Amino acid sequence: MIPRLANLAGRASLWWESGALDVFDASGGRWGPEPLSLFEDWERFWGWATNREPASQGAVDVSLLGPPVPKPRQVFAIGLNYRDHAAEAGYDTDGLPQVFTKFPSCLGGPASTVAAVGSRMDWEVELVAVIGRHAEKVKEQDGWRFVAGLMVGQDLSARDVQLAGAAPQWSLGKSFKGFGPTGPAVVAPSALDDPDDLEIECSLNGKVMQHDRTSRMIWSVPQLVARLSSVCALWPGDLIFTGTPAGVGNRRDPQVYMGAGDRLVSRIAGLGEITVDVVEAP
Ligand code: ZN
Repeated sequence: MIPRLANLAGRASLWWESGALDVFDASGGRWGPEPLSLFEDWERFWGWATNREPASQGAVDVSLLGPPVPKPRQVFAIGLNYRDHAAEAGYDTDGLPQVFTKFPSCLGGPASTVAAVGSRMDWEVELVAVIGRHAEKVKEQDGWRFVAGLMVGQDLSARDVQLAGAAPQWSLGKSFKGFGPTGPAVVAPSALDDPDDLEIECSLNGKVMQHDRTSRMIWSVPQLVARLSSVCALWPGDLIFTGTPAGVGNRRDPQVYMGAGDRLVSRIAGLGEITVDVVEAP
């Protein structure tokens, strides 16, 4: 069985249905415990990892899972990458992808509590790609070779901050503490039947708010790797939040926003689910 890569209590771990394995202990200190170190040497590490077996048996305590890549050096995020969402937001989708960042300090794990911010706190479920090799000027047809794996992410957004002022502040309005939950684990593209076509959805308090397939992204993962790497060097462990489908709160009629007491569950088929509980601001 191909393992998933998880951050278990702050340590890089391999994770199967049947149990887990601490990377640092099992590799004699060659890789880990810091998750980012695995991506620096991804091909050798992954060759080793796919021949391991669980050391501990039984289900993993989900409350111990942290962000699979807690400290990436760069986080790219893509806006308006599904036609229905671009249409509901009132934008034209011709031309180039809209790129911004979520500052890495906003990242969180797959079972997180996030303090409410402002009066227009919104959700955006997204497929997140994790870069596994240094990438510069990559051709689209080679794009997947630079991706170590995929995970579920939420691009939480404080619309009042994002849209305040003369020009939008996308990066700042989407980078409050905990606004980038990810997980539950990094899943290798080879573990999926079709990594270009995954069912994606999110629910607020049990009601489905977004539901689509990643095959309907305007810019596919390999196209985004090509586009971003035509400008920036992509480093191992970097994240790409690939954009959200239609159904966000500020484009609904009437608008819907999150506040303390709300529970947001985001799922991607084959990757698992992440949960955000919104709590009162301290
Ligand atoms: Zn987004």
